[in-house]
Amino acid sequence: MKRKQTREIAIGSVKIGGDNPIAIQSMCNTDTRDAKATIEQIKRLEEEGCEIVRIAVPDMEACNSIKEIKKGIKIPLVADIHFDYRLALKAMENGIDKIRINPGNIGNEERIKAVIDMAKERNIPIRIGVNSGSLEKDLVEKYGEVTPKGLVESALRHVKIVEKYDYNNIVVSIKASNVPFSMQTYSILSNEIDYPLHLGITEAGTVWSGAIKSAVGIGSILSMGIGDTIRVSLTGDPVEEVKTAKEILKSLGLRRFGIEFVSCPTCGRTEVDLISIANKVEQECKKINKNLKVAVMGCAVNGPGEAREADIGIAGGKGYGLIFKKGEILKKVPEEALIPELLKLINEL
Ligand code: SF4
Repeated sequence: MKRKQTREIAIGSVKIGGDNPIAIQSMCNTDTRDAKATIEQIKRLEEEGCEIVRIAVPDMEACNSIKEIKKGIKIPLVADIHFDYRLALKAMENGIDKIRINPGNIGNEERIKAVIDMAKERNIPIRIGVNSGSLEKDLVEKYGEVTPKGLVESALRHVKIVEKYDYNNIVVSIKASNVPFSMQTYSILSNEIDYPLHLGITEAGTVWSGAIKSAVGIGSILSMGIGDTIRVSLTGDPVEEVKTAKEILKSLGLRRFGIEFVSCPTCGRTEVDLISIANKVEQECKKINKNLKVAVMGCAVNGPGEAREADIGIAGGKGYGLIFKKGEILKKVPEEALIPELLKLINEL
């Protein structure tokens, strides 16, 4: 899949846009004023593979936590600020790596200039984030309702304000909760600008349904070659957002994160407890950082052939199982020895 070329920008130590890997973001749901709890959550996110993390900065007290949070984490930190330019200035002073603020909402020119000047001085990217729920009234009137074109026009207005101050360190996102609407919006936006684009489907829902909606939405936009960073928004533990984001990128072949795991859906031919075997193998594979494809298949008749593209795998039988490599059977082992034997061989590869 051909990726649309965007400008490369750096968010702290992470580069996005250009040919850089599509980065995984998440957002804390802790009270930012509680630096300890926020650091703890970010550490869990880092462990799962989160590469950029955003925090809400609603007041000065939250701003004051930034220094401490930065000391306790490794990944770049983004401040989510609405309207108040003083919070943007303070967040940057306190070492934030990126700010999400819409310049058109800051107020008078003097305030806008103060924020952009400081961002420029410290090379801090500004993310412009337009949301379908808060489109300017005049654009709703111009287009008759909230439309993809209206949202893109809104984003471009903010972009132009930043460009007016001769600053190009910009990331843009336009969030909506409707998938076809989002696809259309990003497709228009991507033709208009070459700044890196951040993708997400907003208010996607709870962990299970939200993950599916995000996979369809973000996945569809990524398949158009659009998107430089992604965030899956879920009502739940943000660690689930990172897990889902990894799966989306893996499924499209855009990133690799250790072992790629495949398993069959089971059917009337399955004679082992394949569901529990598959779950255990998948869990164990997450701990191994190897560029391999591992398959867990239900039967010896079809399994090895069906998973021919796997580097190694197992196929269940009655009381025993087969270990196969690239579709060829290696050995027959008792059912209880299947998992340890498979893991041993994976570690030897
Ligand atoms: Fe059924 Fe075997 Fe295919 Fe699994 S691999 S779905 S058990 S035929």
